[in-house]
Amino acid sequence: MCGLSVIPRPDAPVRFNHLLLGFLSLVILLDSKAQQTELEWISYPPNGWEEISGLDENYTPIRTYQVCQVMEPNQNNWLRTNWIEKGDAQRIFVELKFTLRDCNSLPGVVGTCKETFNLYYQETDSEVGRSLRENQYVKIDTIAADESFTQGDLGERKMKLNTEVRIIGPLSRRGFYLAFQDVGACIALVSVKVYYKKCWSIIENLATFPDTVTGSEFSSLVEVEGMCVSDAEEEADNSPKMHCSAEGEWLVPIGKCICKAGFHQKGDACEPCGRGFYKSSSQDLQCSRCPVHSFNDREGSWRCDCEDGYYRALSDPPSVACTRPPSAPQNLVYNINQTTVSLEWSPPADTGGRNDVTYRVICRRCSWEPEECVPCGLNVGYSPAQSGLVDTYVTAVDLLAHANYTFEVEAVNGVSDLSRTQRLFAAVSIATGQAAPSQVSEVIKERVQQHSVHLSWQEPQQPNGVITEYEIKYYEKVSLRYICLSKSTSATVNNLKPSTAYVFQIRAFTEAGYVHSKCFRFSLVCVSISSAAIVSSEQNPVIIIAVVAVAGTIILVFMVFGFIIGRRYALAVKFPGTKTYIDPETYEDPNRAVHQFAKELDASCIKIERVIGAGEFGEVCSGRLKLPGKRDVSVAIKTLKVGYTEKQRRDFLCEASIMGQFDHPNVVHLEGVVTRGKPVMIVIEYMENGSLDAFLRKHDGQFTVIQLVGMLRGIAAGMRYLSDMGYVHRDLAARNILVNCNLVCKVSDFGLSRVIDDDPEAVYTTTGGKIPVRWTAPEAIQYRKFTSASDVWSYGVVMWEVMSYGERPYWDMSNQDVIKAIEEGYRLPAPMDCPPGLHQLMLDCWQKDRAERPKFDQIVGILDKMIRNPNTLKTPVGTTPDFTSFRSVGEWLEAIKMERYRDNFTAAGYSSLESPVKPTEAFFIFSLSSLKCPHWATSTKKGFLLDLFFHPKPVTEIGSEI
Ligand code: AMP
Repeated sequence: MCGLSVIPRPDAPVRFNHLLLGFLSLVILLDSKAQQTELEWISYPPNGWEEISGLDENYTPIRTYQVCQVMEPNQNNWLRTNWIEKGDAQRIFVELKFTLRDCNSLPGVVGTCKETFNLYYQETDSEVGRSLRENQYVKIDTIAADESFTQGDLGERKMKLNTEVRIIGPLSRRGFYLAFQDVGACIALVSVKVYYKKCWSIIENLATFPDTVTGSEFSSLVEVEGMCVSDAEEEADNSPKMHCSAEGEWLVPIGKCICKAGFHQKGDACEPCGRGFYKSSSQDLQCSRCPVHSFNDREGSWRCDCEDGYYRALSDPPSVACTRPPSAPQNLVYNINQTTVSLEWSPPADTGGRNDVTYRVICRRCSWEPEECVPCGLNVGYSPAQSGLVDTYVTAVDLLAHANYTFEVEAVNGVSDLSRTQRLFAAVSIATGQAAPSQVSEVIKERVQQHSVHLSWQEPQQPNGVITEYEIKYYEKVSLRYICLSKSTSATVNNLKPSTAYVFQIRAFTEAGYVHSKCFRFSLVCVSISSAAIVSSEQNPVIIIAVVAVAGTIILVFMVFGFIIGRRYALAVKFPGTKTYIDPETYEDPNRAVHQFAKELDASCIKIERVIGAGEFGEVCSGRLKLPGKRDVSVAIKTLKVGYTEKQRRDFLCEASIMGQFDHPNVVHLEGVVTRGKPVMIVIEYMENGSLDAFLRKHDGQFTVIQLVGMLRGIAAGMRYLSDMGYVHRDLAARNILVNCNLVCKVSDFGLSRVIDDDPEAVYTTTGGKIPVRWTAPEAIQYRKFTSASDVWSYGVVMWEVMSYGERPYWDMSNQDVIKAIEEGYRLPAPMDCPPGLHQLMLDCWQKDRAERPKFDQIVGILDKMIRNPNTLKTPVGTTPDFTSFRSVGEWLEAIKMERYRDNFTAAGYSSLESPVKPTEAFFIFSLSSLKCPHWATSTKKGFLLDLFFHPKPVTEIGSEI
């Protein structure tokens, strides 16, 4: 199921002695119809409003107030309700039902008869007695009838009943009075209902959300933290939240709780796993049956216990079967060669139910008589290893000659060390033969002379016989090899070359020869001769370090040299055919950069006319620029405020240094700068319609799709130009696009340190930088990876801003929630009336993998194609009704085949398209809820959502309808 986006609760308790109205999230503070006894409101003067008993359309007795002083001029009749305690409400709805007599139908009342009355309120902390002071009341509205009547009298029930709803708030005192001022109309006030809206306590995603009073504004969403139900816990970094809308509906569930280990979800609660079942982690959805060879006889278990003789290794997850150690290896055979033994065997018959069987070898040396065995110790070597053997063979070397050994080969698996049962192994007993000596050790260079070195060494620990002589091999570099022999444990090697490195190998020699005897390696430098570099025949790390150091130095020299050249000759770094953007910060002298790229203007050519905005460094004005021999043109003039610091001046002019490098019809054009006079100015082409976001908001719904796509095409072309130049904008947003009188959009707002600094949208992120989160690609937020691909992401958001006429991306969601929602894969839904192809392009720009996003070049191509084939820009019929073509909410509902909800709309205050709450805002809420399921955007699903929104059903029914 696709998430419960709008969740009303039908059976919420009644608070403050107020009545709960049906399924709607309303708390009734006053309902005149519900009162059978006299209302006893204050009426003044006495001959004005009059309380009268009557019957409503269902013949139920009601109390009404009437007034009909239409013959006398200058009427001022007041009626005031009793004091209404507001409870925790902030935004109060007042619903009036009344009938009003048409003045034309009353003879002789011209000039005195009125067809409206006024609604007022007064806030107080307690009741203030029965006197009525007009000047203490705040006017809510003048109420006029949609329908007045001409025949019958005031008591007749078939008269046309008007319903009007007004909203007051935010309220700050404990309560209030309502007052009705009649100025000469013929009115019957049939019912007065006062209520506010509330989101009732609910359980969603295993989190309880308490009763929450709606916010004070229509567009405000109250964010509420959920509390996990018992035996549930918050999902990591995903604490449950929902938003209580102004209409008393829960929207946009974010995050969730999940049942703890040992518990599973049943409805809105967590229940323990039954016996014989377990759930090891809160991440698992269901309890599972105990795996093979395990059991449990408790409820709520996170794992099962192993049967006797079976175990679970530490690394085994609770979901795998319990296992046991393997049986012994089979068919162990051996082969002796002097003091080397090779063993081979077959795998065990029973692996214990595991596939991590390895082998270990235990070696013991035994005396001949009586047979006593001791561990072989570290003198014996094993190839490939003594334990952890994956293959079924091993070679043991450096055994003693003429000795007795036993070898045990054991198969082990992940649970062998846990088992206390007897070890199972295969064993062989072996007697070794004659053997070569082990290696010599501790070779010392005792005397180093110009052409010789005197070495001494220790006898091998295991001579394995009588050592007859030692062989001394030495290498000059790697190529030449010399050998000399010595009978004792020392030798002098002569005829060495000065400044030459040698490696020495010395090995002992017995009757058994050198076989399997290891060589001792020793490298030497004749230091008395040479102070040159130390060299060995092996890969000497010193050489590597030296080579790296030399190479590094060369690279560094080149880099430093290149950097200096780059700084001094930044302009020289151009590539043939492409104009490349040059970062003004690379100039040692920023003034040089400004004059390199921007024309110095004479201040006398500029005429400042008026202030049009406020920039970070000073006022932005409009005016005229008249250059000698040219026509004067409209310009925007950015000024640097007086008292600036040198850094401010540099940063201010930096924008000109950047803008001056660009020359494209969709990038704002720099006319020049004034740096030699005061104030310092940047002169830019004038963009009559100012920034795009404000412009679109001002002209909501007034452009054709082709016009909007034309604007987007312009922005994309400007961005293509900038990205081709190698310029990354970092702050592409509708507010940073300017629009001229021909609706041409141009990219603006360039800067370096000030990028983002002066953007009110930018906030500090955890990575330390200031970032306009809603417009920025995830990789740029997370690790500041700003590229043209991250500009493409921002461009997608600009597309959305344009198609929704300047709506705020992600509406009222907090920046943190936006980051989380994006991370979870949510993307902005298609704005109203947005052709699916355009929304698809937005989604392409919001690909998580930046390599997958289209390039600006491709975007321009796609938009051009759409403009050439306007049929592709048609919105499928029925998906997005056009409100402007309907005269009433009823008509609109009829058009979208949902007339059956007309009453719900009326009750919720959507009676006419001029209602304080417009139906478009219902779609705003729909859009929010569709965040979680963008594919719901079909007319039937919309109908369903609206159904939910205005005609709530129990939560259990929702799943079956989707
Ligand atoms: P800025 O400092 O660039 O953000 O400019 C502040 C405000 O001045 C903008 O929001 C625009 O409304 C206005 N503005 C800046 N440049 C121009 C321009 N070239 N033409 C018209 N209005 C501009």
